[in-house]
Amino acid sequence: MVSQNLSVKDGNIFGMELPADISGLAVEFANTLVHDGRGGVEDLLSSAAAARAWVARRGLGPDVDYESLLAARSAARALFAGAVAPHPASRADNGRTGMPTATALRLLQGAVDAIAPATRYAYEAGRVTATRTTELEPNAAIVGTLALAVLELLASPAADELRACQAPRCVRYFRKHRRQEWCKPSCANRARVARFAERHQAAADDQADPGRDYAPDARTSPSRIRSSSRSK
Ligand SMILES: [Zn+2]
Repeated sequence: MVSQNLSVKDGNIFGMELPADISGLAVEFANTLVHDGRGGVEDLLSSAAAARAWVARRGLGPDVDYESLLAARSAARALFAGAVAPHPASRADNGRTGMPTATALRLLQGAVDAIAPATRYAYEAGRVTATRTTELEPNAAIVGTLALAVLELLASPAADELRACQAPRCVRYFRKHRRQEWCKPSCANRARVARFAERHQAAADDQADPGRDYAPDARTSPSRIRSSSRSK
């Protein structure tokens, strides 16, 4: 068990030392599913060791209950998929049986409850002092922090900015700023290339010849399209 002093922030008492950008943490957590470049999905939390490395890199702690972490991510993605509606969900969440949103909410709520603070009062020389602490397993703290980040994002106005990137192959969620359409520049570039290819395919289809010789794809598209946008 660890005991931690709490900080009061925006009227909420957080039991954990949270990153300044907790909505960023929430999105990053959901985005531990990424495309593998071949039309499939790669899991950045594919093993307990990978999960430990992921939470450690974010300063969340050295260890984490792997099954709880995966369940929390499924819950986060189920709620993200619902939050982006009527915009489409991530491809990784489309067409598969995700966690029901009521189950997802209950699961994340439980994780947050597990890090709920306790207030301890002490009496000393006529004065009562109050200390808010959490007494919990480090494992629970990590999943609870991530659950808190997800729920705080979804409960905030920033939830309206949440989108699933629809660039070819991409399965990421992101927070849309202004006219931003894709999660990152490399996705914007890939989407432009795909649109270019689609337009030329349509033009080819319009001709009497079905245009079998011309099969545009990302690799054969002109380099000026590719170089028109920065790629990460
Ligand atoms: Zn993307």
